[in-house]
Amino acid sequence: MIRGKSLSAVTVIALLCGVCAVGDSQESEVCDSQDRHIILVHGGITTSMERVNDAQMNLIRTVVTEARADLAAGAAALDVVVDAIAVMEDSGLYDAGKGSYLNTAGYTETDASLMEGHTGKTGAVAAMQRLKNPIKAARIVMEDTRHVFFAGPTGEEVLIGLGAEKLDDPASYFVPIRTADSTGSETGTVGAVALDRCGHLAAGTSTGGYFGKMPGRVGDSPIIGASTFANDRYALSSSGRGENFIQRSVTIDIAMRSMYRGTALQDAADYVIHRLIGDIDQVTGAIIAISKDGEIVLSGTNVIGIRHGYASESGGVTIGLELP
Ligand code: ASP
Repeated sequence: MIRGKSLSAVTVIALLCGVCAVGDSQESEVCDSQDRHIILVHGGITTSMERVNDAQMNLIRTVVTEARADLAAGAAALDVVVDAIAVMEDSGLYDAGKGSYLNTAGYTETDASLMEGHTGKTGAVAAMQRLKNPIKAARIVMEDTRHVFFAGPTGEEVLIGLGAEKLDDPASYFVPIRTADSTGSETGTVGAVALDRCGHLAAGTSTGGYFGKMPGRVGDSPIIGASTFANDRYALSSSGRGENFIQRSVTIDIAMRSMYRGTALQDAADYVIHRLIGDIDQVTGAIIAISKDGEIVLSGTNVIGIRHGYASESGGVTIGLELP
């Protein structure tokens, strides 16, 4: 669904006019200038097959299927990315939104970011305690403020004032106990990248951080260029040890290696992830990425895989964990 409206409504609008409003308040272009469109979604890294459950993978299939239908009907990449991530945040199945890990003080602090490739616009939130959908709040930052990043309780209050949905009772909303070493399913950060039929790219990432994080700790997920990055050629999102992704500016490094050196996107990603994050830093990490030319890239290190799903204008929906 596009910004809360049904696909059929969007399709009707697309048929009635070439360029018109598709959002609640935003003017969105209906894209139909090319056939190519791609959605690639992740539900975080996993270090154990036993910690991946069917519900997580089934939701990825649903999200990818809906996102592809929306893109085919002319939805903007930014809308599709926000919608995909918001559904995953609401599910309680991932370490984002409702399913976010608790910090060591026993409460949840969430981070998210969003970037639109062709405009370079960004929005991010960090250490949010009462927001239902951090990714939607990141969009409010991007579109309704003159800033790019809001953090902590003060920032949160401002964003609630601008329309971000507030949780009246966060403690009862968030899934209460998540432990990385339990026998239950491990959750994961979520992210999405999309290419729309205008040829525009967008990327977003949302997380509760990782189990055992200190109060106030902020990871890579809200940091543009560390986790989320998009320009007019690439869109990327990450999951893994956020500290190292920040130190190495992972996603912008991958994009720039490919852009300036002409290195294939997969090779650039494998170098940064395997060599820098894996061999040298010896931490976990993975990225998803797409290019305007239609490349679909996954790369990971010190992990079993990354929960993911993708689809383009041709072929079926692919879901899995496997990394190439
Ligand atoms: N990158 C996230 C963080 O460090 C955690 C994860 O993706 O598992 O906050």
